[in-house]
Amino acid sequence: MPERTIFEKIIDKEIPSEAVFEDDSVYAFRDINPQAPVHVLVVPKTRFTGFADLKSADAQVIGTFMQRVARVAEQLGLEKEGYRIVFNHGRHGQQSVDYIHAHILGGRQLGWPPG
Ligand code: AMP
Repeated sequence: MPERTIFEKIIDKEIPSEAVFEDDSVYAFRDINPQAPVHVLVVPKTRFTGFADLKSADAQVIGTFMQRVARVAEQLGLEKEGYRIVFNHGRHGQQSVDYIHAHILGGRQLGWPPG
């Protein structure tokens, strides 16, 4: 078993977080270091180390995860003005937690390209 990451401890409520949404499949909570007025992380309750793991993941699990990300963005009131979903993967992607997570960023005009 790989070592438990901070996100598993957050899902298990061993580490406090500001919950935004939770059901059987995902947990969504505010990023501790927000990069936009709205910055929420959505994690599936099934662990994947990173985006590359999705290649061999169950399509229904992936589909449910993506659907929940879209629902959380709607719940956050971001649909009208828009938002960005980010999955950082690996070193060049600057992934810092080895547990897949979708960043939902919004509430201001975002720039492109990313740094
Ligand atoms: P990444 O760099 O894509 O791996 O993103 C990890 C994110 O987790 C960063 O945006 C951090 O600010 C965020 N983060 C780390 N620890 C916590 C925590 N205890 N509660 C909420 N967000 C966290």
